[in-house]
Amino acid sequence: TVRVRFAPSPTGPLHIGGVRTALFNYLFAKKHQGTFVLRIEDTDQNRFVDGAEKYIIDALNWCGIPFDEGPGKDGDFGPYRQSERKNLYKKYADQLISNGHAYYAFDTAEELNDHRSEHEQKGKTFIYNWHNRLKLKNSLSLSNEEVQAKLDAGDDHVIRFKSPENETLKLQDIIRGEITIDTNILDDKVLFKSDGMPTYHLANIVDDHLMEITHVIRGEEWLPSLALHVLLYRAFGWNAPEFAHLPLILKPTGKGKLSKRDGDKLGFPVFPLAWKDPHTSDVSRGYREDGYFPEAVVNFLAFLGWHPGTDQELFSLNELVSAFDLSRVHKAGARFDPDKTKWYNQQYLQQKSDKEIAILFSQLLTTKNISTILDVTSVVSMIKERATFVSDLWDFGQFFFVAPREYDAKAAKKAWKEDTPHLMQELLGLLESIDDFTTANLQEIVKSWIGAKEIGFGKVMMPLRLSLVGSLSGPDVFEIASMLGKQETIFRIEKAID
Ligand code: GLU
Repeated sequence: TVRVRFAPSPTGPLHIGGVRTALFNYLFAKKHQGTFVLRIEDTDQNRFVDGAEKYIIDALNWCGIPFDEGPGKDGDFGPYRQSERKNLYKKYADQLISNGHAYYAFDTAEELNDHRSEHEQKGKTFIYNWHNRLKLKNSLSLSNEEVQAKLDAGDDHVIRFKSPENETLKLQDIIRGEITIDTNILDDKVLFKSDGMPTYHLANIVDDHLMEITHVIRGEEWLPSLALHVLLYRAFGWNAPEFAHLPLILKPTGKGKLSKRDGDKLGFPVFPLAWKDPHTSDVSRGYREDGYFPEAVVNFLAFLGWHPGTDQELFSLNELVSAFDLSRVHKAGARFDPDKTKWYNQQYLQQKSDKEIAILFSQLLTTKNISTILDVTSVVSMIKERATFVSDLWDFGQFFFVAPREYDAKAAKKAWKEDTPHLMQELLGLLESIDDFTTANLQEIVKSWIGAKEIGFGKVMMPLRLSLVGSLSGPDVFEIASMLGKQETIFRIEKAID
């Protein structure tokens, strides 16, 4: 049975790249009736950020892609925070020492820095590997007695992986196919740190093994670690999971990786939820707060790297689950297009019933302290067509709830002529006489009145619209008048004449 995991480090808010990784794991798990695990990789205490774990969980829930096992949702493989598993990793590092796949290294930070600068002076890069490990201070170069003495004295040390020499590895990636790596280019990565904590590499492999993960689906930035990870499984004598590395998400220009800072620069969110940095108090925008529907966000994220192979663009989460296939994920970078995101939101808004939108719009009205006797659903149906966000409804339709306080100057110049007050007075008289204030009735009576006067329709329609709306935009003016009702319509015209 399929078990996949999303394994973020709680170092800040989840960037949409991270949400995309979570989504693809979720889709893959659901498609195969598998389990979607959330594991918090918080072994690096220096990079830990308060509130980040909660943010990750809230973001997954908001997107509608909750995990099956993880912090607070115990399965049989907990705990799911690596900090709560920290005592478990040492024995695995020791196991690799005893079977010869890892070694103690005693080089101090200063010594390593010296090596680095020496190399730099010669225009080279210092790599701790097969080539020089015997010249450095470790259990491969020192005698057993020297090593024991250092350990007994409690000297600071790390445990490094002993990368094999002169081997050609053939790695398999579901998205990229076979990748060939010469082991001589690998460095001897630290597995266990002097502070008693495992590094990402060790903890990640041990946990994937213990949690019986079958498929590792993660971002392309982890591809360079794949060789080490596969070698670690081999060194432990464990079966490795299958790997799939998802393509990078590129800036809208297509040049370079989308970064957390691009959002602010280009004026669109790159986070699912808004985030307030606990240190700087800076707030980053989120899709939720910007008024996006989670379905729209999920839909556009699915298309960042995946394609259904048909023209269909709108997919509900369930449809995504059935259509999703890792073999349809491409390896070329996926360009992030904020306009497309808006398009998706517009599609979802248009798809929803007027009633559903009316509930959301009413909430917005409440936050603006508007109470109304109008039927909000009917208002929505009149102005929804051009809206991308619920907040657009306010921009397009606030005149329904508050009479115009001022009139658009340009519109007024165009609509309000010398004879307009006189015409409006006459119109008022006509409207007073109408009892049945329906759109159709209003239209018929007013239009035939204008026709009889033999004047252009605009001479009445424009100032009428200006009086009711405050500008020359909006839906059909008779629909507006009918919606506002006789009393309010008359009131607004009188106010305009004043
Ligand atoms: N903790 C790693 C991250 O932050 C996990 C990488 C992986 O999935 O192996 O992305």
